[in-house]
Amino acid sequence: MPIPIYVDFHNHTTFSADSTTSPKVLVEALKAHPYVKAAAVTDHDTVAGLKEIQQLSAPFPDILIIPGVEISTRQGDVLVLGAQELPHKPWDVEDIVDFAMATGCVTIAAHPFRQFGLADEVADSGVDAIEVYNGCSSGFANKKALDMARKLGLPGVSGSDSHQASELFCVCTQVQASLNLDEILDAIRKGHVSALPAGKSVRL
Ligand SMILES: [Zn+2]
Repeated sequence: MPIPIYVDFHNHTTFSADSTTSPKVLVEALKAHPYVKAAAVTDHDTVAGLKEIQQLSAPFPDILIIPGVEISTRQGDVLVLGAQELPHKPWDVEDIVDFAMATGCVTIAAHPFRQFGLADEVADSGVDAIEVYNGCSSGFANKKALDMARKLGLPGVSGSDSHQASELFCVCTQVQASLNLDEILDAIRKGHVSALPAGKSVRL
């Protein structure tokens, strides 16, 4: 097994109407963090911010921005990691899963038991993984997500769902991969991930 990396799979930038984190602030935070070195950018229903943040992070080989988007499907929110462009509408969850499979992306049910989550529909959705620790969800909602992931035998991941700088990387996922997009996506598919809750200390 390679040395694991630590990833935050759910972050919003100012390209989401409800976030105050500029792409520059996110990149600086990633550079400064002692062990979280990869972060997914998952703005609401847009990939408009990806080019700028990927350009900002490109000079730094020790950090990685994972391109993505949080799609508001009719059934609930789904993270699509690896996406550089938006899927065509309609945005039903099965369409998003098909899009992800066709384009080599990974789908994650975001905060399934909070408002705008897939709730029990996650069971038949075909997503690759479930967000079991969401930095903005209650302990109760996260526990239900964790129970669901175990019941379905799906990988669980953590994502801060940060909308401001102070929320960045409040939870993270340990991933058995090197700092490489394809390896990270593959590790999620294979379940080579451990979701860490808030406050979990990581010894390097
Ligand atoms: Zn979100």
